[in-house]
Amino acid sequence: MPHVAFVPFTGFRVREAELRALGVELPGLHDRAAALARLPALALLTLAGLTPPRWTCSHHELDEVSEVAIEEVLAARPDLVALSALTASVEEAYRASALLRARGARTVLGGLHATACPDEARAHVDAVVVGEGEPVWATLLEDAERGALRPVYRAGAPFDLARAPLPRLDLLGSRARPRFTLQTQRGCPLACEFCGASRLLGPFREKPAPLVARELAAIAARAPRPVIELADDNTFAGARDPGPLLEALAGAGARWFTEADWRLGERPALLRDLAAAGCVQVLVGLESLAGRPAGMGPKAAPLERVLDAARAIQDAGIAVIGCFIAGADGETRASLDRLAAVLREAPLADAQVTLVTPFPGTPLRRRLAREGRLLAERGWSHYTLFDVTFRPDRLGVEELERAFRELLRGGFDEGARAWRARIRRETWARNPSLRRSGRGPCSGS
Ligand code: SF4
Repeated sequence: MPHVAFVPFTGFRVREAELRALGVELPGLHDRAAALARLPALALLTLAGLTPPRWTCSHHELDEVSEVAIEEVLAARPDLVALSALTASVEEAYRASALLRARGARTVLGGLHATACPDEARAHVDAVVVGEGEPVWATLLEDAERGALRPVYRAGAPFDLARAPLPRLDLLGSRARPRFTLQTQRGCPLACEFCGASRLLGPFREKPAPLVARELAAIAARAPRPVIELADDNTFAGARDPGPLLEALAGAGARWFTEADWRLGERPALLRDLAAAGCVQVLVGLESLAGRPAGMGPKAAPLERVLDAARAIQDAGIAVIGCFIAGADGETRASLDRLAAVLREAPLADAQVTLVTPFPGTPLRRRLAREGRLLAERGWSHYTLFDVTFRPDRLGVEELERAFRELLRGGFDEGARAWRARIRRETWARNPSLRRSGRGPCSGS
């Protein structure tokens, strides 16, 4: 039987020792990075779910790219190794591919980075998947079986999420998982200039609620009353009735986290339903205080209105991780000082600050390339969200780097951390599903 080995490269990357040291001090970032690192990588597990039964599958989460780790993958005697990576981790995927190919394995790479940069990726792997993997996966496997892989596979049409398979959670083995991932939609109806996730893999689509319920049942079979991170970009921005989705989540006894835009805070009935259905935290992009990046559409609004919405979300018992971006066009010392003040004063249960990053495939990158402002010497390993990768329009590169570090130090010192921890506790004390179950927001069942 032919065998395919799945190897994901996902999660946060922090490049510099100084930032790593700061990151350890930043619970919002550190905890989230740790949680993301332990999340099952859904894209490859989903492809495994579409793999015909004549193929056997294995899944390998590498702590690092080393001879030993590659040996572990090769021990499964794969006919094909399927890799996925984000921009910050793509060089690790390329290194892994080189080691695997040197030992005679064939590799295929997919994901956002390969989709945006297929010519670059082709130099490192036997085949590249551009766009979604599902529509081309069966053909790709047939070609691999015949020893006739094509260099590029490109989906002809967006994948119909009504045909989504069950992700192969069984491939995760027996290692305990604090959280599981589940996707209820793909893309986002908005189109922020800096966002790669919203359009690169196709238009905005929503998964039918019965399929979400089926996935929840599979997760609950492994972990009763699970903690779930929805792998969505903006869960409630679409037009669907959220009722069936919330019923499914409540029925599984799940506590869950997701990403949504601040307008959620202006929908009181939905907030009540979310909290009752086990939603304990939302990550909300509060974006830049220096100006409104293009493409935000109805998400662009005065900060006061956005913060009022965040307060309403927390009043319903759902903690908000407010995510700000620094370094957008128009950023000055004064706007960064204002951001520092907002970080000190805004009553958010948690906060994150990252640098605007021109990921491949985004309108932002195309614009900065036209303007000659990309820092060519800073390769993909700098695309961490914590490194300056283009010349700001109103600050120097080093000036922004220094100011960003100061912002992190001031916005996440011990006092700020203790204050946010208290807001989290108070918020969760109001959450009806947590009160009912008597459990913590992240604890196992
Ligand atoms: S709202 Fe969020 S997911 Fe949607 S386009 Fe903007 S940044 Fe991307």
